[in-house]
Amino acid sequence: MKTASSKTSVRTCVACGSSDAKQGLVRFVRSKDGKVSCDASGRLAGRGAYLCANESCFAKAAKQGRLSKALRGQISVEDQHELESVFRSVRQDLENKTHEE
Ligand SMILES: [Zn+2]
Repeated sequence: MKTASSKTSVRTCVACGSSDAKQGLVRFVRSKDGKVSCDASGRLAGRGAYLCANESCFAKAAKQGRLSKALRGQISVEDQHELESVFRSVRQDLENKTHEE
């Protein structure tokens, strides 16, 4: 039997500390091999961290190294650029979904 609380788990943005993100939070995950990726599905295995779906929180997290801290692993400049572009498209998807409501 599953507990009923799976849907109410609190997700907090590592940049601003907000857990009340109207646009939703984007999950990042670090896999066993140390690779950090943007987990749009929210289902990848590994240590996860969340960011608000907005540019300023991503920029803040990147600038202050909060994402790598939360994920307990370094993120290379290359990876960060890749994350940024994936983050942008995920954010845009979320925005589109919000508008459909
Ligand atoms: Zn935030």
